[in-house]
Amino acid sequence: MTGPDDAHAMRGVRAAELAPLPTRAHREHRAYSCTNCGHWQRWFAHTPPPSCPVCSDVRNELPVDGFEFLRETEVDALVTTSWREAVPGVTEFWCDPVVGLGSHGWVLETSDGLLGFEAAPWYSADALAELRRRGGLRVLASSHVHGFGGLWQLQDELDPPVVSVGVHDLTWTKAFRVTWPADDRTELAPGITLHRTGGHFPGHSVLHDADRGLFFCGDSLKIDLDEDGNAAALSAHKAFHAQIPLSRAELRSMREIVGQLEFDTVFSPFEFARGVTTAHVVALVDHMLANPPSASPVPMDLLTRTVEVFA
Ligand SMILES: [Zn+2]
Ligand SMILES: [Zn+2]
Repeated sequence: MTGPDDAHAMRGVRAAELAPLPTRAHREHRAYSCTNCGHWQRWFAHTPPPSCPVCSDVRNELPVDGFEFLRETEVDALVTTSWREAVPGVTEFWCDPVVGLGSHGWVLETSDGLLGFEAAPWYSADALAELRRRGGLRVLASSHVHGFGGLWQLQDELDPPVVSVGVHDLTWTKAFRVTWPADDRTELAPGITLHRTGGHFPGHSVLHDADRGLFFCGDSLKIDLDEDGNAAALSAHKAFHAQIPLSRAELRSMREIVGQLEFDTVFSPFEFARGVTTAHVVALVDHMLANPPSASPVPMDLLTRTVEVFA
């Protein structure tokens, strides 16, 4: 039996179901995660996407034998989302077991609220509750598609006023809605600025926290860690999996942009390392420019020596 009160309640439920998502995605669509790289796509409820654009891209590897996708409920059942303070004022979010490329999300405390940069592959209900308890996200941004992880989920759940990705990379952002397409230099919070480096992707952007000397390098750098978690080597690449080097002009551009940023701690979408400085990165680029094109790692002690020669 449905009385007037029930009918009213049902209207309420229907209104909630039909409320627009901050992404403008249709609620009939579902999110699917590629089992090879983790990239999320929204697609029709009755069928998974035909392919994954990230795995099909020149920078990445195809799965061995066809595409497979996991739905939200499957990923939620599969992984645990954890978080910890990486350095003072920066919380690291990640998932176990590793999903796809295994991106890590960083949440920075700023004078203007929390700023999320990159995202873990999935945020459990507990992880979302933790972010809500801390006031939600004021800004959400990412270096490029390999760092997006569950960024669409953070927008759906927390609806930060600013969602920023480099304007040249909009083609990769179909699963969420960019509210602030970034140009070459965009201040996202006081003292915290997004700089477009290009190179790896045309819109690839790094985040610099000037006051704390933190550099969120995206995939402009790959940090090889030793067993104690210290930086052992650095490399830079157009494509890590395919081992395609950056061009000479791309290296010179990276030197010009990153060389002006002061930092001593570096965060990629996958790891972080203390003691990696502006001078190390400049030395890496100089080493690469002095040698034939290569995406191979360069040991940190060689980079330190190079700096001394140049000093
Ligand atoms: Zn993929
Ligand atoms: Zn990448």
